[in-house]
Amino acid sequence: MLKKPYLMIPGPTPVPDRVLQAMHRPVINHRGPEYEAMFRDVCCKLQQVFKTKNEVLTFPAAGTGAMEAAVVNILSPGDKVLVVSIGVFGDRFAEIAGRYGAKVEKLDFPWGEAAAPAVLADRLNKDKHKEIKAVFITHNETSTGVTNDIKELMAACGDHPALRVVDAVSSLGAINLETDAWGVDLVVTGAQKALMLPPGLAFMAMSERAWAANKASTMPRFYWDAQSVRKSLAKGQNPYTPPVSLIFGLQESLNLLLEEGLENIFARHRLLAVMVRAGLKALGLELLAADSVASSVVTAVKAPPGIDPKQIRKIMRERYGITLAGGHKHLEKEIFRIGHLGYVVPTDILVTLAALEMTLAELKFDVVLGSGVSAAQKILLAEV
Ligand code: PMP
Repeated sequence: MLKKPYLMIPGPTPVPDRVLQAMHRPVINHRGPEYEAMFRDVCCKLQQVFKTKNEVLTFPAAGTGAMEAAVVNILSPGDKVLVVSIGVFGDRFAEIAGRYGAKVEKLDFPWGEAAAPAVLADRLNKDKHKEIKAVFITHNETSTGVTNDIKELMAACGDHPALRVVDAVSSLGAINLETDAWGVDLVVTGAQKALMLPPGLAFMAMSERAWAANKASTMPRFYWDAQSVRKSLAKGQNPYTPPVSLIFGLQESLNLLLEEGLENIFARHRLLAVMVRAGLKALGLELLAADSVASSVVTAVKAPPGIDPKQIRKIMRERYGITLAGGHKHLEKEIFRIGHLGYVVPTDILVTLAALEMTLAELKFDVVLGSGVSAAQKILLAEV
């Protein structure tokens, strides 16, 4: 049977037609006036989405590139850093900083839980000589479907001078992040998540404190050099050839985001998460994260005992055209993840739950068809 593809993973996310259309035009000179006008417009709109008055730097890269850019632009080899990790992407920050010669201390929390602000505050209070130069935190841990409370974690840093670095790759533009108001010094994100673009762009915003650290930082850098990106940006350009077609798309995706309104987007993602969680619970499935820390953009679900999550994903994909994500590392055999990030609407959740019910029935899991969908419908109806 003909299948309609549903990309229900936490990135890359579905790209709206308007964005695809915007990219479908001849490439222009990246040193010409048309590009300059477009790039200036894009940077201005990015500042609104980042909720910052500082420039947002664009790198042609995956999100990991911007994470690396964060490390090499504010640190020097031998610097002590604290990495708060609640999953795969927290661990990645530790790995990158370590490879560049930083002395990394990790503050680990169990996978499926959020970072406790009091534990962070306690660790920083013990740093009497203020040796810790930066604290790295993941906003939304995509691997576990947990969102850290960045506002509280920033407050927990108190008056410790460490720079506060936040990985907002899977959250920025879908979950509220008040970069300036909450005192975040450096934020990174990627194109292929809430920004609803194909992969290939990464972004970084730096506070004045981060720029001051950049001046003093001695890590080697060329491609990721924030100063050169900033210098080019002042001319409406990039230091090297940008993926012009993606910038066309970015301008349109930012228009879409600002038309819908950031607060409406955050509310839509919360609704999607509440719907999906209600549906899954009604089916008798266990969720990895507690409601209090649950992500608005991705839900990690435990496969029922005796059922391999890979089997669930295979049937969903092959029979119903719905792509779900798997688990990372030790969670690989335990969970699957439903992404509800970016260009996703409530009816996509109903379709996904309906197909999941049939998939579970096929796998002989005791399921009442329609029970998950119905629980999600009730939530949606209460909203309209
Ligand atoms: N951080 C987080 C929170 C992510 O979700 C991801 C991607 N899943 C990354 C970093 C890395 O992004 P990329 O795969 O684009 O390098």
